[in-house]
Amino acid sequence: MEPILVSILKLSMTTMLAAWACIWFLKPTQVWKRSWHHAEDWASHTFLGASGINVVVFCFPLLAVATMSYVHIHLGARRVRTRLGKFLSTKLANPLIVRSPVGTISSGELISVALFILILVWTYYSNVSSDLKKMTPTKSLKLNRWQLKVMRLGVRFGSLSEACLAVLFLPVLRGMALFRTFGIQFEASVRYHIWIGNTLIMFSVLHGSFIMFIWAIKKNLSEEITKWQRTGRVYLAGAITLAVGLIIWITSLPQIRRKKFLIFYSVHHLYAIFLLFFLLHAGDGHFFLVFSGVLLFVLDKILRIIQSSRTTDIVSASILPCKAVELTLPKHPSMKYTPTSMIFLKIPSISKFEWHPFSITSSCNMDYDRLTVLIKCQGQWTDSLYSMVQTMLDDGHAKKLSLAFEGPYGPATFPYKRYDSVILIAGGSGITPFLSILQDIASVNGSKNTYPMKIQLIYAVKRLADISMLTPISQLLLNQSFRQLQLKIFVTQEERDGAAAREILHEICQVKTVNLNVKSSQDEIPRPEGLLWKATITVMSSATFLASIIVLHRIFGDREKDASQSTVPSWVNDLLVISSLLVAASFAILATILFKLRKSVKDVNSVTKNNVRATEVHDMELSSSQEDLEINFGRRPNLIDVLSELPRDSGESIVGVFEAGDTSVYLLFTQLTSLCRYAAQSPKMKVRTSLASSWR
Ligand SMILES: Cc1cc2nc3c(=O)[nH]c(=O)nc-3n(C[C@H](O)[C@H](O)[C@H](O)COP(=O)(O)OP(=O)(O)OC[C@H]3O[C@@H](n4cnc5c(N)ncnc54)[C@H](O)[C@@H]3O)c2cc1C
Repeated sequence: MEPILVSILKLSMTTMLAAWACIWFLKPTQVWKRSWHHAEDWASHTFLGASGINVVVFCFPLLAVATMSYVHIHLGARRVRTRLGKFLSTKLANPLIVRSPVGTISSGELISVALFILILVWTYYSNVSSDLKKMTPTKSLKLNRWQLKVMRLGVRFGSLSEACLAVLFLPVLRGMALFRTFGIQFEASVRYHIWIGNTLIMFSVLHGSFIMFIWAIKKNLSEEITKWQRTGRVYLAGAITLAVGLIIWITSLPQIRRKKFLIFYSVHHLYAIFLLFFLLHAGDGHFFLVFSGVLLFVLDKILRIIQSSRTTDIVSASILPCKAVELTLPKHPSMKYTPTSMIFLKIPSISKFEWHPFSITSSCNMDYDRLTVLIKCQGQWTDSLYSMVQTMLDDGHAKKLSLAFEGPYGPATFPYKRYDSVILIAGGSGITPFLSILQDIASVNGSKNTYPMKIQLIYAVKRLADISMLTPISQLLLNQSFRQLQLKIFVTQEERDGAAAREILHEICQVKTVNLNVKSSQDEIPRPEGLLWKATITVMSSATFLASIIVLHRIFGDREKDASQSTVPSWVNDLLVISSLLVAASFAILATILFKLRKSVKDVNSVTKNNVRATEVHDMELSSSQEDLEINFGRRPNLIDVLSELPRDSGESIVGVFEAGDTSVYLLFTQLTSLCRYAAQSPKMKVRTSLASSWR
C-alpha cells in the first residue's frame, strides 16, 4: 500500500508544481487577464472575496506541494531501495558543467534553469508587447512616445523581480522537505538561492533605473521618488525596497561573505524590511504571488527558533593534533538522522548570536544517545572553542559547556546501498560527512548482500598532521572485518618517505578528551518536530491565514476592485495581509509550543544517564600498519586512475562518487566531467556523482 501512496504523492506533487508553473506562464496573456477579472468579480460576491481567490490560486498549489513533500519523505524514507533504479536520474544528477564561479551544474539543474529563464522571457515579452499596443500616457508626467516606451519596459522588469521573489525563499527552507523530496541537499540548494537573488537584484535595478531615468529627464526625480500614493504603486516604498535589496546583495558578495561572515549574516536579516516595503510598494494583489514562499519561510523560522531556544550541555570534548575539536552531544534515541546530515550550533559563552553549521560525524545506527561533530579551527569562533577546551585540559578540571542546537538537516535517505562501489573524495575538513557515511556502512557491515562491496576513501590534505581528522573512524580503519574500505591519502604540501610518514601518523593520532557533566534527560538536544507534524502545521497555518484574510477583508477591506475608484487607502489592505500573517504565525507558535510541552512530558525519564566528571587523555592508533592505506606526497589524486582500478569482473558495475569539502576540493571537482566521460565509454560502468556537502 505504501509504495502506491508514495507514487500517488509524487505524481500529485509534480502535477501541482506544473500547475503552479502554468499559472506563471499564462498570467501575462490577455486570455488569463480577462478570465482573472471575471474570477475576481465572481469571488467578490462569495465568502472568499477577491483576496481569498488570490490566496487559493496563487499560494495554495505551492503550499500543497510543501505539505505533500513532508508526507512523501515520511513514507518514502521508510522504503528500502537497494539498487540504482533508473539510469535517467543518474544522467540528470551527473555534472555537465564544472566551471568557476558557478561550480558543478548537472543536466537536471540546467533543464530547471532553462525552464525558469523561459518563463521570465515569456512573461517579459507578452507583457511588453501588449503594453506597446495600447500606449496610454500617464497624465502627470506628459511623456512622449519613446519615454513612455522606456517607462513601460522598466515597469515590466518589476514583474520579473516578482517571479524571482516568488521562489527566492524556497531553497533556504532548512527544515522543509520541498527540495529534499527531489534529492537536493540544503547546501546545494543554497546555490539556487544565490542565483535567484542575483537575478532578482538585476531586474530590480533595471526596473528602478529605467523609471528613475525617465523621471530624471523630466526633472521630476526627487518629487516622484518621495511620493507616497494613497492607492496604487507607492514609489517611496519601491525606492526603499530597492535600497535594502542592494545593501543585502552587496554584503552577500563572496568577498564580504567569506571575510566578514557576521556582517553578511546580520544584514541578511533586513529581508523582513525588504518584504514589508515590497508589499507597500506593489500592493496585496502582487504580494499574494510571492506569499507562499514567505509563509513557508516564516513557518520554517518559527520551528527553528522554538527548537533552538533551549540549551544543552556537551558530554565530552576532544582535541585533535590538527587543531580540531570533537564535540559529543547528548541526544534522545528517537532523534534520527541520515549520513551527511548537518546541524547548526551556537555556544552562548563564545557568541550570543553566531550560529555555525557542522556535519554530523557519528551514525545514529551506532550511537543511540550521542551525536558527534568534528570542528576544525578556521577563524575566530572555532579558535575560541578550541581555546576553551584546551584551557579545561590544561587546568585539569571540566566546566559546563552549554550550546544551542538546530537540526539535524540532511537528505531523506543516503543511498549508498544502491552502488557496487563507492568513491568518497574529501579535502581538508570536508572529510566530516564521510565519517558518518563510513560509520553507517560499518553498522550494517556483515549483513547479507552488503553493498557497496568496495569503498575508496580519497583524502586530500595540505599537511600530514591534518589526517588526524580521521581519528573518529580509527577503530573502523583498524577493523579487519571492514575490508571493503581502502584509504588513499594525498598530502599536497609536504614531502616525506612512507616509513617516516607512518611513524608520524602514530604520533599525531594522540587525542585528548575532557568529559563534562550531563545531569538529566532535560539536557538532551531538543528534537525537531516530526514530518507529519510539519505537514499538519503547514495546512493549519495556511487555512488560518486564508480564514483571517477573508474575515478581515469583510470587516475593514476595500470592496472596490478598481484601485482608482477606491476609497480605502492601499496600506489598509497591506495591513490586513500583515495582520493575517501574524495570526497564522501566532497559531503556528502556540500549536508547536503546546505540542512540545506534551512531548517533553512523555520523554522525561525515558533515558538513563551517566554522570561523568573525569578528565582523561588517551591514545588512538590509526591503522598505520594496514596494507590498504596508501599515502602520496606532493600530488593530487587522479580520479580516472581511481575509477580504472575498481573491480569489474562480474556484469554491470554501478559506481557512486561523492565529494565534500571547501573550495580547495573544487580542484578535484574539475575532474568530474572527464570522469563521467570516461565512465560513458565503459559500457559496463554507470557512474553517479553527487556533492555530499560543500562550504565557503
Ligand atoms: C554545510 C556545512 C557543513 C560544515 N561542516 C563542517 C564540519 O563538519 N567541520 C568543520 O570544521 N567545518 C565545517 N563547516 C565550516 C564551518 O561552518 C566554518 O568553518 C565555521 O563556521 C567557521 O567559523 P569561524 O568564525 O571560526 O571562522 P570565520 O573566520 O568566521 O570563517 C571562516 C570561513 O567559514 C565561513 N563561515 C563562518 N561562519 C559561518 C557560518 N555561520 N555558516 C557558514 N559558513 C561560515 C566563512 O565564510 C569563512 O569562509 C561546514 C560548513 C557548512 C556550510
